[in-house]
Amino acid sequence: MNQPTLVIIKPDGLQKSLTGGILTKLSETKLVIIGCKIKEVSRALAEEHYRDMKEKPFFEEIVSYLMGEYHTKRVMALLYHGEDAILKIRKICGATNPEEADPSTIRGSYGRITTKGVYENVIHASGNPADAEREIKLWFEPEEIVFSNLYPTKETTLQNVKKKIWS
Ligand code: ADP
Repeated sequence: MNQPTLVIIKPDGLQKSLTGGILTKLSETKLVIIGCKIKEVSRALAEEHYRDMKEKPFFEEIVSYLMGEYHTKRVMALLYHGEDAILKIRKICGATNPEEADPSTIRGSYGRITTKGVYENVIHASGNPADAEREIKLWFEPEEIVFSNLYPTKETTLQNVKKKIWS
C-alpha cells in the first residue's frame, strides 16, 4: 500500500553534518520525497510532537533535544511516500536505543546515549499510519507538499492574519 511517512533529521544530525549520509541511506528505500524543509522548532511544536510521551521521565529532555537546545536550533523535516513507506524507513532508521540498533542502520551508525541518558538517535520516523497522519499535519501545510491531496483539504479565507513577507 502506498503511504506517506514523516522523517525528521534531529538537531544532532544537522550539527554533526550527517544530513548527506542520512539522506543517502534513506534513498536506498527508493521512496519519493514529496516535502522537505529546514525548520526551527518551537516548544509548542516539540511538546505537541511528543504529546504521547508526556508521562515519560525523559519528556523534558526530548523536547529540549528536538528544539535544538543541545545542538543547533534547526531540524530537517522530510515527507517520504511510497509502498510500505513507514516500515521501510523505520527499518533503515533502526531501534530507538542507538546502542541496540543494528550498526548498519542510521541510529546504529550515528546515534549515542548522553551521560544524562537521553537517546540522541539522530532521526525521527513515524511509527504507524495514524501517527504519520497526525505528525504530517502538524509539520506540513498542504501547500508545502507535492501531493497535496494526501489527506482531504478545504479552502478557507483568513482575515487579519499576520504574515512576514519580503520587504
Ligand atoms: P521512536 O523515536 O523510535 O519512535 P519513541 O517514540 O518511543 O521512539 O521515543 C521518542 C524519542 O524519545 C526517541 O527517539 C528517543 O530520542 C527518546 N527516548 C525514547 N525512549 C527513551 C529512553 N528509554 N531513554 C531515553 N530517551 C528515550
